Amino acid sequence: MNIAHWLARTARSSGGNPALMRGGQVLADYATFHARAGALARSLTEQGIAPDDRVALFATNSPDYLVALYGIWIMGAAAVPINAKLHPREAHFIVQNSGSAHVLASTDLIAGLRAESTLPVTALDGPDFAAMTIGPAAPICDRAPGDLAWLFYTSGTTGRPKGVQITHGMLAATSLCYPMDVDPVACDDAALYAAPMSHGAGLYAPIHVRMGARHMVPPSGGFDPAEVLALSAAHGPTSLFMAPTMLKRVTDAAKAAGQRGAGIKTIIYGGGPMYRADIEAAVDWFGPRFVQIYGQGECPMAITALARADIADRTQPRWRERLASVGRAQSAVEIAVVDATGQPLAAGQTGEIMVRGAPVMPGYWQNPEATARTLRDGWLMTGDIGHLDADGYLTLVDRSKDVIISGGTNIYPREIEELLLTHPSVDAVAVVGRPSADWGEEVVAFIVPAPGAGLDTAALDAHILAQMARFKRPKAYIQIADLPRNNYGKVLKTVLRQQLEEMR
Ligand code: AMP
Repeated sequence: MNIAHWLARTARSSGGNPALMRGGQVLADYATFHARAGALARSLTEQGIAPDDRVALFATNSPDYLVALYGIWIMGAAAVPINAKLHPREAHFIVQNSGSAHVLASTDLIAGLRAESTLPVTALDGPDFAAMTIGPAAPICDRAPGDLAWLFYTSGTTGRPKGVQITHGMLAATSLCYPMDVDPVACDDAALYAAPMSHGAGLYAPIHVRMGARHMVPPSGGFDPAEVLALSAAHGPTSLFMAPTMLKRVTDAAKAAGQRGAGIKTIIYGGGPMYRADIEAAVDWFGPRFVQIYGQGECPMAITALARADIADRTQPRWRERLASVGRAQSAVEIAVVDATGQPLAAGQTGEIMVRGAPVMPGYWQNPEATARTLRDGWLMTGDIGHLDADGYLTLVDRSKDVIISGGTNIYPREIEELLLTHPSVDAVAVVGRPSADWGEEVVAFIVPAPGAGLDTAALDAHILAQMARFKRPKAYIQIADLPRNNYGKVLKTVLRQQLEEMR
């Protein structure tokens, strides 16, 4: 089933329901949303794009982001949503790797992209796109559950992003888990897009389309705690996805303003570890409005969920333990914890978490080696370390990969290390994360200078900023005579993290 059928059905049954909003302003009802997406599908077809082709979306949040997604799906192509914060070079890599036939981009991102790519680009916020969404609609292209709907690029530890293939079947499974395991959706709800639509927030669009709810994009196009609170109060009930650091900022802003979260129905948090003090403070202030999810691109949003009652019910004897967990398996998956040889471990024992079920990817885009490493006998090896308890609650202990999660975004040290190593003043480098009150974690680079060179922080910073997104830039550079290594010559990052801890 093509996931776009849910839009067609809602347009038929509830065409007059408000659908697309910028702030409090309704821009389209479901009939109009559907008609514009159908017209876009026809226009894309007329431009030579065919089913199974890929169309990249390099854009900040906007109501037309959803018109673009559904237009692409209706004509049978796959969307390649790209994080708008990426450097144009990084975006270009994704456009090329995915073999995208066309790019829909925000105007302010086009110049950078054009410097890298000769591919046809249409401004999502320009007159050409608007014209493409007017006129006769294309019919919905037949899609099988295994057909590609969304290529989701996660960074790899090798520094090269990998495309996770998200199929129409996976989108349906993930979406159906939402009302089962996360939160029921009503047609007067508003999905508020305060986090990037290229990631988790966008993946929650289809279930809200299916239920005929509103899609509200903040006028700022991004995350502003005061704006989230004001929009919810004026146009709730709202539901929104937030990374843990965003939740802390909203709580702080609400406390400062004496605002108790009027209009907020549910805040779904996940994507990185949540400090217990932060969620307790949030529940103390806002009440029982939170649900946690644990997922990864390879099983988007759908591994476990920690229910509203588990988070808020302090009378439950195991409340503290559960609050520190990521909850229980969502309805469409099985989870297991295994040792290094793949043998299942008993409750309480720590090992690698694996998951299988309908929301799990069939593999990475054109990357059989990485797929073979990650999918084993039908199970997705998450690379996360944790343990289950006797009631099925899963607690994450660590990430086996050394990913740094800053502001809810994954940063892969290897990518930064490789770039720093291309600077002539650098002999060796190791990048690790250190705890940050504002960002969750921040990037720190340990540098061994090349013989005769010193540590030139400004030069290294300029080198990074010329080629990489700003949010990946190290917040500190620390000179070190030699990196600590084990017998195999592998850098011991735990020792570096300890060193940072001692310096604090
Ligand atoms: P991504 O593929 O970019 O979505 O990153 C997925 C990774 O983020 C997971 O493998 C976990 O390491 C981490 N993660 C996701 N959700 C949570 C959560 N609720 N708590 C702790 N870590 C999480």
